[in-house]
Amino acid sequence: MGERVIRVIPEFCMGCSLCVAQCPHDAIRVAFGKAWIDQRRCTSCNNCIGVCPQGAIREEVRVSVEEIRAVVNSVHDRAKSIMSRIDGITQKDGSL
Ligand code: SF4
Ligand code: SF4
Repeated sequence: MGERVIRVIPEFCMGCSLCVAQCPHDAIRVAFGKAWIDQRRCTSCNNCIGVCPQGAIREEVRVSVEEIRAVVNSVHDRAKSIMSRIDGITQKDGSL
């Protein structure tokens, strides 16, 4: 579930360019002292993450609203099922 995206946290990047040479797809550029990743070229191979001395390159998972809705609906359905089972074994005085 979700789309994996590799991105640079600008606040942590010091523009050293070490990551640029690690990218086999020429996806990383450094401009104005900060690296950025061209998402059209990046294949999420993770080669660049380990070389950054600042820990500025991170993998994120982007989740769509539809995916979140599906999880919430699934939890809701399971909760309803559990509640109906509890109702089925509840005594008249409300005790189990
Ligand atoms: S994850 Fe791989 S393809 Fe993407 S920027 Fe890093 S080294 Fe390049
Ligand atoms: S290795 Fe890290 S600190 Fe250096 S340019 Fe790349 S992202 Fe920035």
